[in-house]
Amino acid sequence: MVKVYYNEDVEGGVLNGKTIAVIGYGSQGHAHALNLRESGIQVVVGLRRGNSWVQAEKDGFRVLSVMEACEEADVIMVLLPDEKQPTVYENEIMPFLSSGKALAFAHGFNVHFHQIDPPKNVDVFLVAPKGPGHLVRRTFEEGAGVPALIGVHQNATGQAKELALAYSKGIGATRAGVLETNFQEETETDLFGEQAVLCGGLTSLVKAGFETLVEAGYQKEVAYFECMHELKLIVDLMYEQGLEGMRHSISDTAQWGDFVSGPRVINAETKARMKEILADIQSGKFSKGWVLENLANRAEFNAINNRENQHPIEEVGKELRKMMPFVKQRTKRELVN
Ligand code: NDP
Ligand code: MG
Ligand code: MG
Repeated sequence: MVKVYYNEDVEGGVLNGKTIAVIGYGSQGHAHALNLRESGIQVVVGLRRGNSWVQAEKDGFRVLSVMEACEEADVIMVLLPDEKQPTVYENEIMPFLSSGKALAFAHGFNVHFHQIDPPKNVDVFLVAPKGPGHLVRRTFEEGAGVPALIGVHQNATGQAKELALAYSKGIGATRAGVLETNFQEETETDLFGEQAVLCGGLTSLVKAGFETLVEAGYQKEVAYFECMHELKLIVDLMYEQGLEGMRHSISDTAQWGDFVSGPRVINAETKARMKEILADIQSGKFSKGWVLENLANRAEFNAINNRENQHPIEEVGKELRKMMPFVKQRTKRELVN
C-alpha cells in the first residue's frame, strides 16, 4: 500500500510564524480558513467586496483585497472557482509572487492544463480535499476530517511537501488520511470521478430509474423514495462497511437482484463510454470545452441547468422533503457556510 499520512506523521512546524492567505470564501475557502485558524495558524482572507466578504468578516477574519492578502502572505491558497482563477491570478496574485512564497490549489486543473503557469521561484503545491467544503468544515468540528491528496508541482524552497502536509494537518485532512499524488493524477481522476461516477453517472442513473418507473405508470412519490431518497441510506452503508457490508444489510432478494441486474445496467458498453470520457479528459478536450463555454458566458451550461432544475424528480422531491424535517433543508448559503 502507498504511504498514507496521518496526524502523527506530520510535525507541522514549517507553518510556524507564516501567514496563509485563503483567496475565496466559498465552499472550500470558508472551511480551510476556519479550520486553519482553529489549528493555530495565522490566516487572512483575500476577496472582492460581496457576500463572501461580509460572511468572512462576520466569522472574525481580517479580510483584504486579493492583492493585499497576496502581498502579505507567505502561502497563498487559491480557492476561487476554477474558471475564474486565471484572470484573478494574472492581475491580482502573480504580481506578488516573490521568491520563497508558496502558491497552493485545491484542484490541479489550471496548472495541469496550463491556464496558470507560475514563476519558477515559488513553491507550488496542491491540497485537494476529497469531499465538499461544507463537510471539510463539519467533520473538522466533529473532531474528524475529510481525506485529501497532496502534490508538489514546484519545489523552489525545498519545503513544498512539508508545507503541503502541514497545511493538510491544519484543515484536519490528516485525521482521515492524506495521499501523495501529482497535479496530473489529481486533476484527471477528480474530473473523471465527478463526471462518470459521483455526479454525472449518479444523477443520470437516478433520473433514468425514476423515469422508468413513472413512465410505467407508478406513482412519482413512490419512484422518488425508491430511486433517490433511499440512495443515501445505501451509500452510507457502503461508506461505512464497503460493498460486502452493504450487501449484508440488504435482503438476500435485493442482493440477488444486485448480482443479476446491476451488470445489465452498467455493462461493457458503459465502461467503454467511461474510457472515452477519460480519454477526453486526458487529451485536454474536456478542459478546452469548459474554458470555451465560460468564454461564451455559459450559454449551454445555463440552458441545461434550467432544464435539469425542472425535472419532475425535483418537483416531487421538494414536496416530499418538506415533510421530513429531519432532512435538513440547507439553503445554498448554509451549504457554503
Ligand atoms: P466557490 O464557488 O464555492 O467559492 C468561490 C469563492 O471565490 C467565493 O467566496 C467568491 O466570492 C470568491 N470569488 C469569486 N470570484 C472572485 C473574484 N473575482 N475575486 C475575489 N473573490 C472571488 O468555490 P469552491 O470552493 O467550490 O472551489 C474552490 C476551489 O476548490 C476550486 O479549485 C475547486 O475545484 C476546488 N474544490 C472544490 C470542492 C468543493 O467542495 N466545492 C472540492 C474539492 C476541490 P463572492 O461571494 O464574492 O462571489
Ligand atoms: Mg472532487
Ligand atoms: Mg472537482
